[in-house]
Amino acid sequence: MTLTSPYLENYPDEKGFYGKFGGSFVPPPIQEQMDKISARYNEIKNSPEYLKELDKIRKEYQGRPTPISYAKRLSEHVGGAKIYLKREDLNHMGAHKMNHCMAECLLAKSMGFKKVIAETGAGQHGVALASAAAYLGLECDIYMGEVDMLKEEPNVTRMRILGTKVIPATTGLKTLKEAVDMAFMAYMEDPENIMYCIGSVVGPHPFPMMVRDFQSVVGKEAKGQFLDMEGTLPDHVVACCGGGSNAAGIFSAFIEDKDVKLYAVEPRGKGTGVMGEHAASIQYGHEGVLHGFNSITLTDSNGEPAPVHSIASGLDYPSVGPEHAFWHDIGRTESDVGATDLEAVEAFFMLSKLEGIIPALESSHAVAYAIKIAPKLKGQTILVNLSGRGDKDLDYVVENYPEFVDKKF
Ligand SMILES: *Cc1c(COP(=O)(O)O)cnc(C)c1O
Repeated sequence: MTLTSPYLENYPDEKGFYGKFGGSFVPPPIQEQMDKISARYNEIKNSPEYLKELDKIRKEYQGRPTPISYAKRLSEHVGGAKIYLKREDLNHMGAHKMNHCMAECLLAKSMGFKKVIAETGAGQHGVALASAAAYLGLECDIYMGEVDMLKEEPNVTRMRILGTKVIPATTGLKTLKEAVDMAFMAYMEDPENIMYCIGSVVGPHPFPMMVRDFQSVVGKEAKGQFLDMEGTLPDHVVACCGGGSNAAGIFSAFIEDKDVKLYAVEPRGKGTGVMGEHAASIQYGHEGVLHGFNSITLTDSNGEPAPVHSIASGLDYPSVGPEHAFWHDIGRTESDVGATDLEAVEAFFMLSKLEGIIPALESSHAVAYAIKIAPKLKGQTILVNLSGRGDKDLDYVVENYPEFVDKKF
């Protein structure tokens, strides 16, 4: 499968801009590496050998193509639109992240790098990268806040078993922000021998573009599968949005189909709109440069990244991919789209009990939004990108939401 299409070829521009968003705002030694990565990526993205190897890995190791399932009992329960699920939860290791981690590591290997590094919050990106690195024989260092390491111990253990070194960030609040700083410092020390693998459609160019292209397999598969099943395109496509990689992956195939409405569901957290109680950058943020790219960011009065909250740790990022900022700006994606912690938890249990699928809390935000709009859309179809499975969230929901465990829907 190719990594391109007319839309994908036209955006971003050469400097990595989607309208005014994107670009690359990094120190010169890092820019030098970004230029090298760009050049190599442009070389191999149409190379039959690279694409053949990627396709083979996806088919024989990762378990692609993932199916689309019609959620019949959920649709009947909610009433209105028919709801379909693109099953990214069935990827090896249980989430869509493997789509870009594998491709990034393959690119790193083709450039002669022996080592990949990254930061991780809850450990999901770390685990996906650790697996890809093990599979391809690359060394892997993951930076993680000490507090997060205690909270997410099973993921730390997974990474270690997979042969990755997990390095604790012990300064400040000892969470994701400190881990980002530390990983970036390690990268600055030796950029010529390491590839920094970014975990979403964020960071300096070319990462937002590459990660989108690597995730575009989701949209391309889904479009063909949906046409086969229903003989027409879906009316609505819904995906949860933290940095925005799973959303960009599925949206990218439908951008030029103007009748298909696209919804990037942001985490509204506690639902108050108060800073620190959500991570809905598009809804509450403003334009600014963070982590090397221009986008819509959540910052405090000092211009520092604002504290963010979501029940889904994969969604609590104080910015969003530049292409999402662009799509929102031009009106290609819908406005005012989000789900609260509680709505996500309810969707988590509904999908589990009505469909026999336990979704990740991140993905539950997308399901919650589909449940919200379906009653008004009788006779129409909604395709939800189910980005991952919820095994990692079981202890948390049972401890914090015991009232839902035996609830009937
Ligand atoms: C990390 C993660 C997300 C959020 O990342 P995006 O880049 O916004 O897609 C969503 N779902 C799952 C299951 C994840 O692990």
